Amino acid sequence: MIREINRNTEILQQKAALATTGDISVADDLMETLKAHADACVGMAANMIGIPKAIIVFDNEGEYMEMFNPEITQKSGSFETTEGCLSLDGQRKTKRYRYIKVRWQDREMKSHQKRFSGWTAQIIQHEIDHLSGIVI
Ligand SMILES: [Zn+2]
Repeated sequence: MIREINRNTEILQQKAALATTGDISVADDLMETLKAHADACVGMAANMIGIPKAIIVFDNEGEYMEMFNPEITQKSGSFETTEGCLSLDGQRKTKRYRYIKVRWQDREMKSHQKRFSGWTAQIIQHEIDHLSGIVI
C-alpha cells in the first residue's frame, strides 16, 4: 500500500527499533511508496512513512534493494555535499563517504555484507541516518 510521506520532524527524529519478520508488510509498503515517488526520490527509510522500524529501501543503479537493520561497518573517502529529502524542504549540507561496507539482514533475517560506492553509497548513508533519527 502506498503510504503518505511523513514530514513530522518529531517522528523523523525517533531512533528506529530493530525490524523483524513481523515487519515485512512495512517493507512492502515502503517499497511501493518509493516506487510511487520514483521521479523525486531514490531511497526511503520506514520512518518516512511514519513507522520507526529499521528498514530502508533504495534504488541501487536501477535495481531496487531492501535492507532490514542495516549498519555501516567501514567507511572511507569523506566529502561534503548537499542533499534533499522528500520529508524535508530544500537542500541541506552534509558529510558523506565515498566507500562504505554495510551489514544488513534480508526479510528472512539472513545476514549479508557488501561494499557500496559512489551514488548508491550516498543514498544508503542518507537512509541509515534516518534510522538513527538524524535529519540532515
Ligand atoms: Zn531523507
